[in-house]
Amino acid sequence: MAVDWKNYKPILIPRIPNLHKIEVYEKNGGYEQLKKTLKSLTPEKVVNEVKAANIRGRGGAGFNAGLKWSFMPKPDGGPRYIAANGDESEPGTFKDRKIFEYNPHLFIEGSIIAGFAMDITAVYVYIRGEYKSWIDMMQKAIDDAYAKGYLGKNILGSGFDLDMYVHSGAGAYICGEESSLMESLEGKRGYPRVKPPFPAQKGLWGRPTTINNIETLANVPLVIKNGAEWYTSIGAPTHPGPVLYGISGHVNRPGVYEYPTGMPIMDLINDVCGGMRGGKKVKAVIPGGSSTPPLRGDQLDGVCMDADSLRTAGSMMGTAGMIIMDEDTDMVEVLWRISHFYHHESCGQCTPCRDGTGFLEKTLIKIRNGEGEMRDLDLLLDLCTQMEGRTICALADAAAWPVRYTVTRFREDFEKRVKNTVFALA
Ligand code: NAD
Ligand code: SF4
Repeated sequence: MAVDWKNYKPILIPRIPNLHKIEVYEKNGGYEQLKKTLKSLTPEKVVNEVKAANIRGRGGAGFNAGLKWSFMPKPDGGPRYIAANGDESEPGTFKDRKIFEYNPHLFIEGSIIAGFAMDITAVYVYIRGEYKSWIDMMQKAIDDAYAKGYLGKNILGSGFDLDMYVHSGAGAYICGEESSLMESLEGKRGYPRVKPPFPAQKGLWGRPTTINNIETLANVPLVIKNGAEWYTSIGAPTHPGPVLYGISGHVNRPGVYEYPTGMPIMDLINDVCGGMRGGKKVKAVIPGGSSTPPLRGDQLDGVCMDADSLRTAGSMMGTAGMIIMDEDTDMVEVLWRISHFYHHESCGQCTPCRDGTGFLEKTLIKIRNGEGEMRDLDLLLDLCTQMEGRTICALADAAAWPVRYTVTRFREDFEKRVKNTVFALA
């Protein structure tokens, strides 16, 4: 059932002027949930409430954040970490930077509450290096939080200590993968680690670590304020809460929009984004960043932006970074561009990924150049089978899925190129 979104008022990024300033945030109830947590809640109570709220990770995987927190072992007096993932390098994804810009203290407050719940020593905020101005904004917000006693030693007289650092990435997509992000934070080359052990068991510098996306942590104060029951009443029941939809492509008003989960895709296109540019038809929608399978325009009726609805339709929610393409789009070009990206960004540790992404790109270039044969389409699908689930991290899957689903769902675009070639050569 579609959610009632027309009367929705943003809560992650409410329309309050200058909310990024700590005084304005405080005047609007900011840091009250931290005070409540430190004064009246236990770490177990916080973890259980967040788990019951079922905040599904907004970085793409959709894992229950509270459940992830519950994997952290009991404190042993040694250091423990949160790595807040603001790398957002997945093509089509550009929503965390809105939190850095418009409501950084909501994220900081959520991170401190998460820190209290898991007995954390330090939070590392990992932000992609290209986000220079957003890195500076976050640093300023963190400095202000220290100055007010929300970070540092003996926070608000509670006896709880927590430090927070901003760390800038250097432009590698793979450093957004959680284990590679930890390698990068440790000052090493960003090679993903084999899992298990998961970060809760062996994370940064071998110590228990939780990696959460920026938007995920920004949801935490909302849950502490209003409770899990309230939170699960927003949007789709099995994938609840507010979401920042980053919408790009051939719509009249692309941008980042906050609405509940479970939004019908066609409502987002027609009502929220003002319809398709030039009144064209929708040809394809990538729902949640370039690794999520594209849906055909004629598949979209009744499809909503939540895990269950998208799974039924044959895709995934990912980061809710939606790319909308019109009827004039050439899917061969789109797929080549995506494949070029994953080939370029493969770290090269695993053969199926290092060579597979290269073969995918080469085959697509061949088709694009008009030199493709019909059997190349089968070759592409076969390459995907050789890559999926056979590597250290999910990059190989992320590279294979767009190929598998673009070639099968938009086969006519590929056949046209191949057939044209045969015709031209004859
Ligand atoms: P995953 O499903 O393997 O893991 C999700 C999270 O749950 C991880 O933190 C993992 O450590 C934890 N986890 C899973 N099983 C566990 C277990 N048994 N015990 C303990 N912890 C466990 O996914 P992933 O590799 O972390 O992420 C892949 C997703 O990232 C993709 O779906 C893609 O959409 C997304 N992605 C996002 C971006 C971006 O820019 N935001 C970039 C690339 C990919
Ligand atoms: Fe590196 Fe690709 Fe292997 Fe991931 S799957 S570790 S990116 S080679």
